[in-house]
Amino acid sequence: MNKRTRIYEGKAKILYEGPEPNTVVVHFKDDATAFNAEKKAVIDGKGVLNQRISEFLFNKINDMGLPTHFIRSLNMREQLVRAVEIIPLEVVVRNVAAGSLSKRLGIEEGTALPRSIIELYYKNDKLGDPMVTEEHVTAFGWATPQEMDDIVHMTVRINDFLSGLFLGIGIRLVDFKLEFGRFYENDMMRVVLADEISPDNCRLWDIATKDKLDKDRFRRDMGGLVEAYQEVARRLGIIQANEQLPRARPKLVKND
Ligand code: UDP
Repeated sequence: MNKRTRIYEGKAKILYEGPEPNTVVVHFKDDATAFNAEKKAVIDGKGVLNQRISEFLFNKINDMGLPTHFIRSLNMREQLVRAVEIIPLEVVVRNVAAGSLSKRLGIEEGTALPRSIIELYYKNDKLGDPMVTEEHVTAFGWATPQEMDDIVHMTVRINDFLSGLFLGIGIRLVDFKLEFGRFYENDMMRVVLADEISPDNCRLWDIATKDKLDKDRFRRDMGGLVEAYQEVARRLGIIQANEQLPRARPKLVKND
């Protein structure tokens, strides 16, 4: 068996060279981090659940005709994706006030926003991903005005689609983060959705009970993270109620 070539290891994923040109294998780890990696833990089963939820959502988004990096899942933890040049932006969409928006503007968590709000953050761990405007993005050349048009257009469609999908299974899509990349095909370049969509980068609240079914359970030391992610997967029809599920054994490495 050949050893795979590791391209990059991030906080929650490892990237390997793919089996075909211009492809990459994404391996979803069980590692959880928050607050710019100041808080870390390994949560058994999280990687599998995120991979399966993200696979499901990316397939749906591909079916809508929106271009994504996702090709197919290879196994429970790994996916084959197109190699893209990541645009260094975190595109956050908010439907309900929570997290940093509530803190920054003093708006109570849970307040419905008058309309959906898109925020841009410059992806740079050293700087703690500062919030930026489209002016910064185009002035510094992180993305062109045309690319920003594509990003905003796709983001609005994805938000409408995901909000409806989750509403149908009793879950409020409070906010989420997207990343985009440039995909080169012969002489053509297009902007495609990249990264993942999972409870690690969405806020998902049970509409009936207000339970949090997302990574805030880890950020806020609430416990029950794997059970919450399983509940999301179950409601989406990805796993069956009686399916053998990974056990949750959170091991706190550092917490400050
Ligand atoms: N988010 C993310 N990665 C980040 C920052 C935020 O996936 O580096 C997601 C987060 O899960 C939430 C949304 O973006 O669904 C908005 O996050 P917020 O700005 O409220 O920051 P947080 O409270 O997570 O620090």
